[in-house]
Amino acid sequence: MIARVTLEIALGKEFDYLIPAELEGRVEVGTRVKVPFANRQVLGCVTALAEASEHANLKAIIKTIGTQSQITPKILELSRWIADYYCCPAEVALRTVLPESVRKEKQGWREHLYVRATPQTGEMPKLTAKQKAVLDILLTRPALPLQELLHSAKTTAQTVRKLEDKGLLTIAAEISERDPYANETILPSTSLVLNEEQTKALAEILAPQNNKVFLLHGVTGSGKTEVYLQAIAHALKQGKGAIVLVPEISLTPQTVERFKARFSSGPLQTLVAVLHSHLSGGERHDEWHKIRQGRARIVIGARSAVFAPVDPLGLIIVDEEHEYSYKQEEAPRYNARDVAVVRAQKENAVVVLGSATPSMESFYNAQKGKYKLLELRQRVDHKKMPIVRVVDMRHTARKEKGGTPVFSPELKEAMTQRIERKEQTILFLNRRGFATSMQCPLCGYVAECPNCSVSLTYHRKAQRLRCHICAHDVPAPLVCPDPKCKNPAIRYSGLGTERVESSLNTLFPKACIQRMDSDTLKRKDDFRRILGDFRSGKIDILVGTQMIAKGLHFPNVTLVGIIYADLSLHIPDFRAGERTFQLLVQVAGRAGRGDVEGEVFVQSFTPFHPAIQYARRHDFAGFYEQELEFRRQLKYPPLSHIALITIKGRNEEKVSFSAEHTKRELEKQLTDIRDLTLAGPAPAPLARSETHYRYQIMLRTGQMSKLSRKLAELRLNLALPDDVLLTVDIDPVDLM
Ligand code: ADP
Ligand code: ZN
Repeated sequence: MIARVTLEIALGKEFDYLIPAELEGRVEVGTRVKVPFANRQVLGCVTALAEASEHANLKAIIKTIGTQSQITPKILELSRWIADYYCCPAEVALRTVLPESVRKEKQGWREHLYVRATPQTGEMPKLTAKQKAVLDILLTRPALPLQELLHSAKTTAQTVRKLEDKGLLTIAAEISERDPYANETILPSTSLVLNEEQTKALAEILAPQNNKVFLLHGVTGSGKTEVYLQAIAHALKQGKGAIVLVPEISLTPQTVERFKARFSSGPLQTLVAVLHSHLSGGERHDEWHKIRQGRARIVIGARSAVFAPVDPLGLIIVDEEHEYSYKQEEAPRYNARDVAVVRAQKENAVVVLGSATPSMESFYNAQKGKYKLLELRQRVDHKKMPIVRVVDMRHTARKEKGGTPVFSPELKEAMTQRIERKEQTILFLNRRGFATSMQCPLCGYVAECPNCSVSLTYHRKAQRLRCHICAHDVPAPLVCPDPKCKNPAIRYSGLGTERVESSLNTLFPKACIQRMDSDTLKRKDDFRRILGDFRSGKIDILVGTQMIAKGLHFPNVTLVGIIYADLSLHIPDFRAGERTFQLLVQVAGRAGRGDVEGEVFVQSFTPFHPAIQYARRHDFAGFYEQELEFRRQLKYPPLSHIALITIKGRNEEKVSFSAEHTKRELEKQLTDIRDLTLAGPAPAPLARSETHYRYQIMLRTGQMSKLSRKLAELRLNLALPDDVLLTVDIDPVDLM
């Protein structure tokens, strides 16, 4: 027999190897193997078996890695689809579907020496006091790690070895699993009684039918998670497993606990495996194997959990399906939401995409009948949606001289009330640091990053100027750095969260203010600690970036302030309006989740922008309709698919020349894609990043699979200089 193998070194093709007699029957599709290649030995994955090969003098596989074939044929097929659709080499896609720690040649289990008492029938031999103490401990526990036993019995390994010699116990190496959540106690929870809307949605999901992708559009607090939980219970009853994808930032202990609690006891009891980027390699290895061995039938995780080897798979949930963090920003540039739909189709599983603010793409698919739309229009228990007030900041700015004000009088007043009533406030601004630019009003000097085409952000507490693209970091100057100027009156403008925090401390000196952004989260458990303090009421006002915008549920929050709603409107991206709408609705959804009605203040300099006005009325359908019209006119998604080609390098002339050359080749070779629109090349919105100049070409078409195939071919034959890099991003979410 012959095995076809994709090697982990990037070569862009497969190689045939002989399966030696001693490995006969142990090599299947998906088995990982070590093979000779040139003068080396490399790892690879078997992608097919064949009777014969067209090549002569084949070398033989050296050995197999791991006992169970690690990539199931289904996941292998999925990885092929990713390589084809997202236009990347097969080995790059393959590398992504298996976590690094699982791919290692050595098994990654952590082994410990365990001690077990041997059942005794006859008479006990004479024992020393120390030996007795050891056996007494073992009477109460069937097996114990050696170290723990020594600690409890206050003795040495020698005592235990002696007992082993007498045949009273055994010592053996056993695997001990790492459990990232070992220190948590989880109280079991039972199903809630669904309300009418939830019942209807669940019934649709469980009904046997042809349509298997559901878009669950439910306002914030409408009980989507309860629907997920009961759909999962149904899958388990049928002997199938489920994957729950959540954006990395909402993968809080709070979320994980909710799932674990439901399935921690009762007839459907199963392990819930968790996969996210903060696990250690070892923890990830153990979680993965729990899934592969079928012990954990529910997986909850961020983007890459879509590849979890759950088999058979009954259900994939994609919560907050509109989130951009589902898109991987390096090759393979896949979107986990879309991969989920493809995977479910291949494995005959059901997909539920859930969101309070569905993406234009998913809602369009629902309108076209490709997905089935399910709606939850009411908050659970008919809690009211918060009242949203849009504050015209032009007004405030006119009245208050001397720079842009941080708070309008209305928001100030509302915060004062909340502090008096001992209720809590969340303030949102998606920009960290104190000020976003430093200028000299005398000579016009602006502090810019030497590596990127952006200005440096001023961090006041640290007294540094930092680039938020490349992390360039210098001390903040006290006078204008221009030697001819040296003006001491440097001006800072453009506010960030640090500035908001400092204004709050001045305004409310007695209140407890806490900032939460990546600058204040230094240690692993800071996030959890701050949320804990907020929950227990220690914090009056929480200021933060997008990490506080999503999924948090705090009943005592009755006020939400959005400091500068225009921020996301002005980015050079056709999705700016959509992004703003989503952000406003999501942030507003943090208010009024308890018994007191919530209130939201949206501060804006363009208060009449449709994205802001539709968000004010919680009107998704209205927003969707007008946004779709705009997309239709410009042939943007969801009415087309985009392939974004970025060409970058340190030499701007070479980059621009290469971009022109690429465009000409594209025009020559893509003639049979009739609906193709080609724009560019032009400098990217972020024209320079980490010392690289960047040019873009944007392609739009309704036939993306066909275009992807063409682009893959074209890329192989495109002769670009060695120091110029070309990337292809299919269905990009970041156009910068
Ligand atoms: P969403 O995910 O739509 O934002 P959640 O599922 O978090 O909403 O539900 C909000 C709150 O309502 C949660 O505390 C949840 O336990 C509770 N809840 C959900 N469904 C019901 C129900 N049918 N009856 C009572 N409480 C419910
Ligand atoms: Zn930079």
